Amino acid sequence: MNIIRNGNIEKDSWVQVSDDESIPKGTKNIVSYERWNKEKDSISLLSYKIGIRLRSDQHPSDIIGDLEHFNTIALEFPQFKDGRPFSYARILRDRYKFAGDIRAFGHILRDQFLFLDRCGVNVLQLQSQEKLNDWTEAINEISVSYQPASDDRKIVKNLRRKINSDFIDDVDSITENLPLLEERLKSFTLSFGHLSSLDLLKTMIHKEFLGKIALVSSFGTEAAVLIHMISTIDKSLPIVFLDTGKLFDETIRYRDSLIQLFSLTNVESVKPEISKINAIDPDGILWKQDHDACCNLRKVEPLRNALLGFDAWITGRKRYQGSSRSVMPTIEIQGGRIKINPLASWTRKMIEDYFIENDIPKHPLEDDGFQSVGCIPCTDRIRSGEGLRDGRWRDSEKTECGIHESLAGQSLTSSEL
Ligand code: SF4
Repeated sequence: MNIIRNGNIEKDSWVQVSDDESIPKGTKNIVSYERWNKEKDSISLLSYKIGIRLRSDQHPSDIIGDLEHFNTIALEFPQFKDGRPFSYARILRDRYKFAGDIRAFGHILRDQFLFLDRCGVNVLQLQSQEKLNDWTEAINEISVSYQPASDDRKIVKNLRRKINSDFIDDVDSITENLPLLEERLKSFTLSFGHLSSLDLLKTMIHKEFLGKIALVSSFGTEAAVLIHMISTIDKSLPIVFLDTGKLFDETIRYRDSLIQLFSLTNVESVKPEISKINAIDPDGILWKQDHDACCNLRKVEPLRNALLGFDAWITGRKRYQGSSRSVMPTIEIQGGRIKINPLASWTRKMIEDYFIENDIPKHPLEDDGFQSVGCIPCTDRIRSGEGLRDGRWRDSEKTECGIHESLAGQSLTSSEL
């Protein structure tokens, strides 16, 4: 079935689970308020993401204690004269700062679109699929002809843009801290914009985020440049390595050899929670059914936990790697933290030269045609004429594992560094 989400027709990726059927494993499940209250522990374990259905006699205040569990709240519109779900949507957005999807289903009419939108509803589940195009036409007409609302519609939309709803870590604290972080980002731009990658790292590690910054590294084909650079600054800097359980042995061996070579003392291999693996992906084949769910389980969630306690993190991404990275700033804000990409402006040639000048060993799979190495099932050799990351998630539209998008939000602000 298709839905309209943020104005676009999309395939509905959520499963509406009725009270008398079993909960599917590893999918995005929407359950009733009653079912959630009875079975929340097992639902949390089985579901990749969780949604809840509320009837119009079930007030959002009834779920306030559990709100952090939900990525979607589906509000039933029972009949035209019952306006309570409109108020509920507004309460969820304004009072409870809910940043996930709010879905309207049941008796909704095309003429109500603008009001639904203003109240914070962003997903429309229509009773009749034939009406989908009709609705999107109406949405386009309204977007063109209406001026911005004088109410808080804009605020709701900004909130959704700034905080990715896949992970609603702590929406209140993220939004509260945002102005301070943005000020800090501006000041970094002015003060450190002229620094080299090495000096920028030194400043961030020794001065700005002493004891509160970590490198996140895949120990992939180009990772050794940044790891080496950091080893010349502080060999005990925390380095987070996401061991998904699906990595090449060559990567694990390469990690161990670099630890030894650079005398690193604080590399933490972070694994997914075993209880979640057993519940969601016991056979280890989730990647075949849903790459995003698998990356979420094996990368995004473990990283989110690993970064608790840090105010900033460092990545080795470069603009020449293409896709969304081609416009990446050197310093950005993501999910309430500063994220530093010190090699953002480096070229492939600079990376190659750095390897040679510092006599750094290459990842063992590189000579075998792998230019970007991730998990075994989702990594392929690149073919002639392909980009460096084209072997990742081949034959799929996916280009990133999600840790740079879903970890509580997209980059909020770009610097000109
Ligand atoms: Fe799963 Fe593939 Fe993502 Fe690895 S890269 S976590 S195997 S989907």
